Amino acid sequence: MKYAPVQNFINGQFVDASTDQTLPVISPLDGTVLSAVPMSSAKDLDAAVRSAKIAFQKWAHTPIKERVQVLFRYRHLLEKDLQELAALVSEENGKTMGEAVAELEKCIELTEFATSLPQLVTGEVLEVSKGVECRTEHVPLGVVASIVPFNFPSMVPNWTIPNAIALGNCMIIKPSEKVPLSVGRLALLLKEAGLPDGVFNVVNGDSTIVNAICDHPGIAAVSFVGSTKVARIVYQRATHHYKRCLALGGAKNHLLVLPDAKADMTAQNVAASMSGCAGQRCMAASAMVAVGNVDHIIQKICDEAKKIVPGQNLGAVINKESKERIEHYITEAEAQGAKILVDGRHTTVAGKEQGTYVGPTVIDYVKPDMAVAKEEIFGPVISIMRTNTVDEAIAIENANPYGNAASVFTQNGGMARYVIDRASAGMIGVNVGVPVPREPFSFGGWNESKFGVGDITGKSSIEFWTKLKKSTVKWNPEAGINWMS
Ligand code: NAD
Repeated sequence: MKYAPVQNFINGQFVDASTDQTLPVISPLDGTVLSAVPMSSAKDLDAAVRSAKIAFQKWAHTPIKERVQVLFRYRHLLEKDLQELAALVSEENGKTMGEAVAELEKCIELTEFATSLPQLVTGEVLEVSKGVECRTEHVPLGVVASIVPFNFPSMVPNWTIPNAIALGNCMIIKPSEKVPLSVGRLALLLKEAGLPDGVFNVVNGDSTIVNAICDHPGIAAVSFVGSTKVARIVYQRATHHYKRCLALGGAKNHLLVLPDAKADMTAQNVAASMSGCAGQRCMAASAMVAVGNVDHIIQKICDEAKKIVPGQNLGAVINKESKERIEHYITEAEAQGAKILVDGRHTTVAGKEQGTYVGPTVIDYVKPDMAVAKEEIFGPVISIMRTNTVDEAIAIENANPYGNAASVFTQNGGMARYVIDRASAGMIGVNVGVPVPREPFSFGGWNESKFGVGDITGKSSIEFWTKLKKSTVKWNPEAGINWMS
């Protein structure tokens, strides 16, 4: 084992879980056993909630301008340790070092946004009648939880940590059991930045902890990011216990490519979107709808895909099951009559035979009812469907139950607007393959890509992590007492 066994982080200390059960943490890059992650129990979660509850008494009443001082220091530490943190992300998740560095840079941007929250939560006050004031303030919820997936070991946790704690909450995070190491490092950085004990806690484990979070009466709100299957479970269970919940799910993002699209730029964007982070992004392009004759662009997409080399500029997928699942999708599409233009099956990287790599794969002549067209594959695979009109392409996109992102590639502004207005997705790109809004804009999909109201990052997150206190105050309008008389 390369690293010490993972521990929970409760009340500012690393502590062992109350059970002996563990799972190995394996690097997808080469199969190295990195560590072991404990499968904590509901008892461990309860200890974290108790510590967070105590910390909340002080943290909630610490002025926000003081709270964000911790985040200024945390941001500095993220920057100082960026290379080391990125190396850990790459090791446990399998993405390339370049992608891991970009992930950490995004963590810095997310933290910078949180440091600006004092400017955004000033509330309102108005004299509504003579001597009577109405006032609204954003106040924290209490102890909140964040449940995160494997694909961004550092970024997705940082979607929630800085905003939730800047806004005065105390947090318990449940990392993905596949990539628990990065969150442990973030806990250390927050402590080093001066975060008081108990404000941030980590409880490792699997669905036992997720269920315990949803059920625990001491937790006021639950944010979840992961697959739609689990997002549904968490949303139903947390709201059943009257908790506020925002549950982000999976995706099947469509790119609409029109004949007037700039060929080189489009091909580069499509290839990068489908293969970046080995296709394991909820914003990855996974389906492309070719409108009319765009054969010249498809040829260039294949040329671009062939430049993407596993083990060099393409990372590994998370584990063997994932590699098998992705390859099965490709084989099934082929058997159903689709044409494999670039084939990433049976990929190995010399010297890293235990790594789990899938090469970039371009599948043409896919029919909308095939599994590769409908389901989230979460690998470096693009399925191309062909239509004659933009309306048919939009109909394919909208028939999909997900609604995270969609993009259109065209030089026609009117056509781009037409697609923006009609695509049923929360985040739309025009000539952009991965249309992630940058801070201060919010991130969040629609339909089965998100359950709950509002978005998880940016300004919209303020509504999720706070509640409004409304006070009506009356003073004697004739005041002017002379205290000396
Ligand atoms: P996952 O749903 O398997 O796991 C997410 C979390 O839920 C993990 O912490 C896991 O321990 C827990 N979990 C797993 N099964 C559970 C169960 N049955 N009951 C309760 N908890 C359970 O997701 P993943 O494989 O880690 O991540 C990939 C998925 O996340 C993809 O579908 C991807 O699209 C999605 N994702 C979505 C977004 C978004 O913004 N919409 C962002 C990142 C990832």
